[in-house]
Amino acid sequence: MTFITRFAPSPTGPLHLGHAYSAIISHDMARRKGGKFYVRIEDLDQSRSKKKWENQIFEDLDWLGLSWDGPIVRQSEELEKYKNILTNFKNELGLFECFCSRKDIKLALSAPHIDDKFLGPDGLVYPGTCRENIVSSKINFNNVLRMKVNLGEEKIFTFNELGQKKGKISFTLSEFLKTIGDVVLWRKSYPAYHLACVIDDAHQNITHVVRGMDLFEATKIHTVLNTYFGFHKPFYYHHKLICDENGKRLAKRDDSKSIQKYRLEGFKPSEVRAMIGF
Ligand code: GLU
Repeated sequence: MTFITRFAPSPTGPLHLGHAYSAIISHDMARRKGGKFYVRIEDLDQSRSKKKWENQIFEDLDWLGLSWDGPIVRQSEELEKYKNILTNFKNELGLFECFCSRKDIKLALSAPHIDDKFLGPDGLVYPGTCRENIVSSKINFNNVLRMKVNLGEEKIFTFNELGQKKGKISFTLSEFLKTIGDVVLWRKSYPAYHLACVIDDAHQNITHVVRGMDLFEATKIHTVLNTYFGFHKPFYYHHKLICDENGKRLAKRDDSKSIQKYRLEGFKPSEVRAMIGF
């Protein structure tokens, strides 16, 4: 089996030290094992994704000394693939159309009979308002579509974690429903991150998913989807997050730690690598 990792940035801003950390771990893991390292452009958010940022991602990775294997997958070019899978699995997923705005969801959650208001990796845990709008015939891809978490059987899901929380991570479907809920899989004209990510990791035969701890809970969604789709389950390596001097996690809008800024200021790649412990 070939060892395959990937780095999957969204081209919505400059890469910062946290991205460099993730990309270097993923790249080095693959190279050590004689495997492959892919760069996947997650450009589904068409209003925020820009070609300029995509070009800069490749320049930054190259400057850091990383090499990648082809071909490059751009999610915006693969919409048919995601649509086909949703169409094939709509019954298993219990796909339903959701017409709630964020405000509607907040309002429903403030009703006195709902006492758990969790903020999970897919936002507020959905109160179930539109659950009866099951898609029974052709899918209308202009709508928001959610998966109805099926409690018909109490299932246990597991994934293998190699990072900070090393071990077999297990959770039940009812825990999932309580803390994550009916996940959005389609947003009016494009797939949600969770759907596209799982499909591409499977199609690219990724064996090891390397990413930050901020996505640890999201991996539960990916595990459930992988199970419904019958995809192989990759190993996961969730690494620590790189923070600024005040202990705050770096964000895209935080230009001060962008790789490009260091490049323009004359830093050497080895100096930037050293800042994050390489
Ligand atoms: N596009 C996602 C991000 O930039 C990637 C997450 C992942 O590695 O699965 O956060």
